[in-house]
Amino acid sequence: AAFESLSNRLQNVFSKLKGKGKVSEADVNDAMREVRLALLEADVNFKVVKDFIAKVKEKAIGLDVSKSFTPGMVIIDIVNKELTELMGGTQAKLAKANKPPTVIMMVGLQGAGKTTTSGKLAKLLQKGNHKPLLVACDIYRPAAIKQLQVLGEQIGAPVFSLGDKTSPVEIAKAGLQHAKDNGNDYIIFDTAGRLHIDEELMDELKRIHEHVKPDEVLLVVDAMTGQDAVNVAQSFHDQLELSGVVLTKLDGDTRGGAALSVKAVTGRPIKFAAMGEKIDSLEPFHPERMASRILGMGDMLSLIEKAQAGIDADKAAEMERKMRTAEFTFDDFLDQMEQVRKLGPLDQIMDMLPGMNKMKGGMKDLKVDEKQIGRIEAIVRSMTKEEKQKPELLNHSRRKRVAAGSGTTIVEVNRLIKQFDDMRRMMKQFSSMMGPKGPKGGKK
Ligand code: GDP
Repeated sequence: AAFESLSNRLQNVFSKLKGKGKVSEADVNDAMREVRLALLEADVNFKVVKDFIAKVKEKAIGLDVSKSFTPGMVIIDIVNKELTELMGGTQAKLAKANKPPTVIMMVGLQGAGKTTTSGKLAKLLQKGNHKPLLVACDIYRPAAIKQLQVLGEQIGAPVFSLGDKTSPVEIAKAGLQHAKDNGNDYIIFDTAGRLHIDEELMDELKRIHEHVKPDEVLLVVDAMTGQDAVNVAQSFHDQLELSGVVLTKLDGDTRGGAALSVKAVTGRPIKFAAMGEKIDSLEPFHPERMASRILGMGDMLSLIEKAQAGIDADKAAEMERKMRTAEFTFDDFLDQMEQVRKLGPLDQIMDMLPGMNKMKGGMKDLKVDEKQIGRIEAIVRSMTKEEKQKPELLNHSRRKRVAAGSGTTIVEVNRLIKQFDDMRRMMKQFSSMMGPKGPKGGKK
């Protein structure tokens, strides 16, 4: 998954510190050296890394970390805050025109995901009760117009096109008029990309820009391309004055460099992140949540938001409380699994849970696939009511019975119980880390 190796490396650095009652300056320096390497390996821009480490060190010295009772936690907290800052601090919202329609121009290289993202953005706007119009200005890529029309049809949003014989500037002008005539409050221009930036492309984009006077110029970049993505962003920004960035393909195993450097290098915030091919896989980008996710603190907020959209709100709140307080039984486990299944691809959901990333890494044999989940459910269902509430009752003979009852093996039963215990432990750790008001630094 995205950020996996960065995340694992950082978590390793911090787990070394966490155990220590006292850290010396040398410990902090060692940790920072490892953080620096981890970031460089994740393809974060060299200069960005240098600044980042300097800031973290300065804060660590300022807070006199070595005198704290929980030095490891203080450092994680500092890194967490700096990572958040690095990605823009707070969520950057989509601009809104004083007088509708709000004009959004999507730009980027070919294959970055412009057309797909235009459709996803329209869908997101519809969810907020808006009436977006999509405009097909990419007349060069053979299938682009058709692709946009198919997306529009899929979500029930109008698509304006004049085919591929009219110039993109004319299409854009006519599209804008069309939106005004039809009461569309947002208009999204899907523009052409090239494999490389060239003058002709930029000239065309600038001309469209002049005519439609966009409120947003969103650069769509493929997160998988790492630092290249950042270079692309810089050259687009030099020419067109971007207002924000959309990172796509964060569902792939990007090392994370683009997400972590693009704001620092271009000064433009990441406004949205796309995490899949499906039409509803575009989300507003939350720097603080992404930072916690990278640090293995879990992205409980996103998970809970998803849960609230998809599931019973009471259940979601209860689940969250249980996870925080670590009063967690096999009944809850089963319940949670069922709820989680409704939320989306399991791999993505797992990544949002605290400690999960690490857990997946530590147990290479634990494949998060749907079939496996079916077996896990069978195991839990074969436990008695008592056993589900008090897993410590499960001795060897009970485990054998459960294996027989669920049509699985004792090895699988043992593994699940171990996994469950790890999860509970992780939750305890997490809940002691997170006070009622979020991550604690300093004194207990
Ligand atoms: P364009 O040339 O910039 O318009 O790019 P497209 O919108 O045609 O996208 C190029 C390819 O990337 C398509 O196959 C998309 O399905 C795929 N794609 C776009 N966004 C994502 C994403 O967030 N995740 C994944 N996995 N694929 C994506």
